[in-house]
Amino acid sequence: KEPTLGNPQNTIAVLQKYNFMFQKKFGQNFLIDTHVLDKIIRSAEITSGDMVLEIGPGIGTMTQYLAQAAGKVIAVEIDKALIPILEDTLEGFENVTVLNEDILKVDVAGLAQRENGGRPIKVVANLPYYITTPIIMGLFENHVPVKSITVMVQKEVAERMQVGPGTKDYGALSLAVQYYAKPYIVANVPPNCFMPRPKVGSAVIRLERYENPPVQVDDEKLMFKIIRASFNQRRKTLANGLKNSPELDYTKEQVEAAIDSLGKGASVRGEALTLEEFATLSNYLGRSKV
Ligand code: SAM
Repeated sequence: KEPTLGNPQNTIAVLQKYNFMFQKKFGQNFLIDTHVLDKIIRSAEITSGDMVLEIGPGIGTMTQYLAQAAGKVIAVEIDKALIPILEDTLEGFENVTVLNEDILKVDVAGLAQRENGGRPIKVVANLPYYITTPIIMGLFENHVPVKSITVMVQKEVAERMQVGPGTKDYGALSLAVQYYAKPYIVANVPPNCFMPRPKVGSAVIRLERYENPPVQVDDEKLMFKIIRASFNQRRKTLANGLKNSPELDYTKEQVEAAIDSLGKGASVRGEALTLEEFATLSNYLGRSKV
């Protein structure tokens, strides 16, 4: 079945038919541009063999496009006012299941197991921006089998995910994302492609999950504690960040020896380290514990 939504006229018609009220707290900005929808679908490289998880289908605009391309679509929507609308707009799209749930409470790994035999799924969404980071990190940290994540996010957040050391946007999110996946910004999307218009610019980013992490880490949890400690105190040295962290328990000597092992000098800052250097630092500190 062909998509019917994705333009302003039909979106307004659906909203009026159901007298739908936008809920700011759910980050509702619906796509009204077919070019953007086509671009998302193309860059997600969906085939009829794929199971797609869509987070926040709204009135089902992107869901219609996904249903056309994928084998199966599971769409998770928190707002119960949208459920009758989705039943209407997705009528005839037989491969779609809508779940009225909060995505942060869904066992996505279990869902992939039940619905896709544990094979990797693709996640595609125009995300609610207020929970972008917990959604993406939840998928990675809970070891959900994902092949790729193709999502609309706030432009600044897309940039933070993609940049490397030495830029102002580089931080804990960049490192966390880049440990699990290869990021690629697919498109910048202006506010007029949405209804209502968001106050911020948006971008579509594709995260392609690595089969094996790009660096060798003995203890992932320790590395992420170290990363958080290094960026908690921006403009301070890495040594101070690590010594002052409530999450870490290393002596001044251990911290200094670990930093020395990077060959960077004692006044180096966290912002200057690559993922590989954080891995080295973490392995060194992990082994220095008595
Ligand atoms: N996919 C639609 C589109 O592109 O037009 C809507 C995108 S809108 C930016 C985000 C959607 O996520 C809204 O429908 C909102 O109700 C839903 N949402 C917000 N928080 C959610 C949560 N915790 N779990 C599931 N859906 C959520």
